[in-house]
Amino acid sequence: MGPRIVSAELEPIIGDAGMILSIWTDDGVRGRGEAVTRAGFAPPLAALEAAARGLPGALLGRSLADLAEAEALAEDACEGAPGPLRFALEGALLDLVGQREGRGVAALLAGPEGPAAAIERSALLVGDDADALAGEIEALRAAGFGTFKIKARGPWPAAQGRVRRARALLGPEAALRVDCNGSMPAADAPALLGALAELDLDYVEEPVAGLAPAGWRALAGAGVRLAIDESATDPRAWRAALDGDAAAVVIVKPAFVGLLAARQRIAEARARGVEVVITSALEGALGVAAAAHLALATATSAPAGISARAAAWLPAWLDRQAPRITAPTAAGLGVAGGEG
Ligand SMILES: [Mg+2]
Repeated sequence: MGPRIVSAELEPIIGDAGMILSIWTDDGVRGRGEAVTRAGFAPPLAALEAAARGLPGALLGRSLADLAEAEALAEDACEGAPGPLRFALEGALLDLVGQREGRGVAALLAGPEGPAAAIERSALLVGDDADALAGEIEALRAAGFGTFKIKARGPWPAAQGRVRRARALLGPEAALRVDCNGSMPAADAPALLGALAELDLDYVEEPVAGLAPAGWRALAGAGVRLAIDESATDPRAWRAALDGDAAAVVIVKPAFVGLLAARQRIAEARARGVEVVITSALEGALGVAAAAHLALATATSAPAGISARAAAWLPAWLDRQAPRITAPTAAGLGVAGGEG
């Protein structure tokens, strides 16, 4: 018989759209997880709060001896719950189990081969004009980053000019990813993608909004790899995208689908030869840490774009200036102090 859950509290994150879930067991250990939301990716905060109301009732008094019980409990307590709430609960339960067993969450989530010791991550370019981009790229290259991502949200083709500048400043060696967030007009997309293909990009994410898998496949003819992100957050859309061979790369955001569902998605995508990139989603330290643990656990060969821009309480092992994330020696999620 393991320790029992004696308290489960949800607190809003000040100034942000999310909640921190804290769970205590009767041996005095606390586990924490984070739920965040964002328009276009996840249900609004009010929906998360409504779904979270039944959580304490489902958790109190339950035994939490090991990973198997944590997974079963997450399954029970989160049936039908939105992804961000699952992510918070799974993060908190694995944080508890990891602390009790003296293991990191990456080790708990990994297969028999164990987690990777370290993973690479990409850097997000935010500079608008050529000077800002040049300064940013110089600093990031000096820090050791080799993979970069840039948002290109239109209006097109002006956005293309910025991507071209970034590629020229980066030189031919660096990997460059472009995220359009669905901003290309459908009619212009083949030509715009064809022009981007000349820039030797790693991939282009979400070129056109609202495409069915056949539409994605048609755009693959433009000659650049396509990556699917927000179009496949919903489980049904995920299934359709995977079954329909929509894209060569999938972006998995554990914060919006849950840690265990994200791990499942990674396995499914890999089984079909689809490349996986794990990213965070503007969450704080607890959420970024959970996403990083999953990236370590699954040893994604592609750099994981785990941005820590919004994290106020980031532990040293998640230092956002570092091009690699090394597994923390601390047990659980490896986030101490702060409110996450
Ligand atoms: Mg994206």
